[in-house]
Amino acid sequence: MPQDSRRVAVVSGGSRGIGRAVVERFLTDGYDVGYCYRSRPADADAIERLAAEHGGRVFAASVDVTDPDAVRGFLDGTQERLGAIDAIVTSAGIVRDGPLVTMGQEAWTSVIDTNLTGTYNVCRAAVFALMKQGRGSIVTLSSVAGVCGSATQANYAASKAGIIGFTKSLAEEVARFGIRANVVAPGLIATDMTDGMKAKAREAVLARIPLGRIGTAAEVADTVAFLASERASYITGQVIRIDGGIGN
Ligand code: NDP
Repeated sequence: MPQDSRRVAVVSGGSRGIGRAVVERFLTDGYDVGYCYRSRPADADAIERLAAEHGGRVFAASVDVTDPDAVRGFLDGTQERLGAIDAIVTSAGIVRDGPLVTMGQEAWTSVIDTNLTGTYNVCRAAVFALMKQGRGSIVTLSSVAGVCGSATQANYAASKAGIIGFTKSLAEEVARFGIRANVVAPGLIATDMTDGMKAKAREAVLARIPLGRIGTAAEVADTVAFLASERASYITGQVIRIDGGIGN
């Protein structure tokens, strides 16, 4: 049975990287958490152990965020199992980097579909329930690439800039229902997504980061958890960069 006194969060792309750190942070903060991934399940035992430690519950599902029906089923399932949703974090994302001169249609479409349309699918499936309950906080994952642009990432930067426009518009639309929507825009964060970067490219980015190091997923999760919480009760429609000062 849902325990209505506990808060409930939903995280897309919660099996690895930033999404996984957000799931862990929410469990530590006393939420029950529903999360999805595309194909590679998390170390479910570790997450279950953390949930048990904090008296929380998790609901994990393999759901492709590009499939609106599957996303709707996942959100319905989360509400049935865990109760009304308080916070939504859209972290599912991919890269298919390359210069525009050779960027094929698949590289363009898959990135826009997963990152931008996937964000729309999750928010669209959840927003009416949040409006009815008159509360909720949405945090979307953009990127510094979406703010500043990034060579060889025209598809990715376009998807991430789209997420900013989407979230700012949503924030204006739903504020009167007691719902906040904000964006976090990380710089270079150590996850599987960035592990594959060529050493030369990594060194070049590192040299431009004033704080002189790559960020951690836990550092991003800290800000996400803050924005999701009542501590950020007067913050909406904002883009918070977590990037060690790059591009300032
Ligand atoms: P990872 O590659 O480490 O993890 C991506 C997560 O998204 C996985 O759980 C993956 O599931 C899931 N995912 C991917 N595609 C889909 C899909 N179609 N449907 C459902 N789930 C999917 O990425 P990061 O943690 O590094 O990135 C998280 C978010 O942060 C992304 O939106 C990314 O663009 C953004 N970001 C990351 C930065 C970085 O430096 N790492 C910098 C700026 C922004 P599965 O394992 O099953 O594929």
